[in-house]
Amino acid sequence: MSFSDLPQPLAEALVARGYEAPTAVQAAVLEPQAQGRDLIVSAQTGSGKTVAFGLAMAGELLDGAALPRPGAPLALVIAPTRELALQVSRELVWLYDKAGGRIATCVGGMDPSKERRALSHGAHIVVGTPGRLRDHLERGALDLSALRVAVLDEADEMLDMGFREDLEQILDASPQERRTLLFSATMPKPIVALAKRYQRDALRISTVGEERGHGDIAYQALAVAPPDIEHAVINLLRLHEADTAMLFCATRENVRHLHATLIERGFGAVALSGEHSQNERNAALQALRDRRARVCVATDVAARGIDLPSLSLVIHVELPRDAETLQHRSGRTGRAGKKGTAVLVVPFQRRRRVEMMLRGARISAEWIDPPTPEQIRAQDRERLLDTLLQPVDVDEEDQAIAARLLAQRSPEEIAAALVRAHRAALPEPEELVGSSGPQERTREPRGGFDGSAWFRIDVGRRHNADPRWILPLLCRRGHITKAEVGAIRIQPNETHFEVAGGVAQRFASAWHRSADKGDPESNIALEPLQGGPVREAPRKTYKPRPHGKPNASGRRPGRAR
Ligand code: AMP
Repeated sequence: MSFSDLPQPLAEALVARGYEAPTAVQAAVLEPQAQGRDLIVSAQTGSGKTVAFGLAMAGELLDGAALPRPGAPLALVIAPTRELALQVSRELVWLYDKAGGRIATCVGGMDPSKERRALSHGAHIVVGTPGRLRDHLERGALDLSALRVAVLDEADEMLDMGFREDLEQILDASPQERRTLLFSATMPKPIVALAKRYQRDALRISTVGEERGHGDIAYQALAVAPPDIEHAVINLLRLHEADTAMLFCATRENVRHLHATLIERGFGAVALSGEHSQNERNAALQALRDRRARVCVATDVAARGIDLPSLSLVIHVELPRDAETLQHRSGRTGRAGKKGTAVLVVPFQRRRRVEMMLRGARISAEWIDPPTPEQIRAQDRERLLDTLLQPVDVDEEDQAIAARLLAQRSPEEIAAALVRAHRAALPEPEELVGSSGPQERTREPRGGFDGSAWFRIDVGRRHNADPRWILPLLCRRGHITKAEVGAIRIQPNETHFEVAGGVAQRFASAWHRSADKGDPESNIALEPLQGGPVREAPRKTYKPRPHGKPNASGRRPGRAR
């Protein structure tokens, strides 16, 4: 169905907005078989789902092309958070503007008396959050007796947030013959149960796969050692320099830590998790909208319902629990025709699991190496040239300063100072501890290791052991630097390695101390290697850097963090 088949005022509103064709979910709800039916829809944020339910309810609202006089609401939209409710209301306002639609909002944290007044003046559509809607219902301000359609937006989120009872009370108070449209990113059992209880003969619509099929989101994955994850994230941010980037973590503690790390490095970053108040949330979102911040670190739940059109990069800093969450998180970018990139940061040991998850979801991801400081600097150069060669408007004051500068310095000096000033605003790329190159499978003995000690740990080739994983692990758990690790020999079931003599004892005791401290690698057992190393021919070798030489970034390698 095209937009031109819609009632005149809605078609006009869409044209005025510049929307030419329906998105997949909009097309699906406008199919003849969906007309007048209850719908259970899985669609991601960014799929155009708000306009989709706005259009789907047109049949219940409009009498031909006109709306009746506003009175008791005909349509009710319930959304989990204040931002989402306000965003939904903004979309419905322009969509129904030409039809003369009156929309009232009932949202926690806003002035309830103003809302009561608006309700008493009559509305066609009410949009609200569950708790506030229930309050108005109980006080008699919200009359649901004329309701023809109820929409539950992000229903899974509302149940997760504990709004089941509020939802049930609201639905129970509305006429049985109403239409119920249930939108949910995921369809866990409690959602299915809710649908069973409150819907009749619902048509199931899923456009999650199709949205992905549009190819607006390029998936990438990179395998790193757990201690290198934050460095890899920093380098990804620096390589892309996205207008807005969203980073997903599994817990609020991890959000807090990554956010602090990014601030420390000079990124404009905000955090969203369950520990933030509504005011903090609003401030964070405002900072992203007006570009004071460009990076948002969030948990899955806290990021729900956020619509940031400039978001072009999603990083799964911690892996999503399943393919559905992966798609839901990634769907924050690549919205409404724009291109986006979603990158999974995968700890080495979990690569196979991630490959299976991607295969299961039929997502083809490109496996990439973590961006190196050299790649980032090359990108910076291109971007700087691009920025500085853009035409600029200069006023008289600028010109006067320019003339004074030119009188005292050469054009080259001035240009270099300008480049330097721009570059100074960019956080430094990181050197990954395990970034010795993919060709490195075995490190061989090197100079400066006389009197070294050999150890073994109980992970080997069968456990995906790889020097790019093992080396950072040894540094982190043993509190030593990359330069203090000598040869690494990976055997089928174990790995042997050499530690500089002077630090061997400290290494072993730090390793044992760091066991069982919640580190996922804390159950790897370490023992001194009795009888020295095995004399097995290395599978492949690499040429190590001279002992302790500063690396390309000018730092000593393996600076402990
Ligand atoms: P939503 O999934 O409702 O959060 O919508 C994501 C964004 O896509 C919103 O900014 C919508 O206004 C926009 N949008 C909705 N429908 C269309 C369409 N048919 N064409 C282009 N953009 C759209």
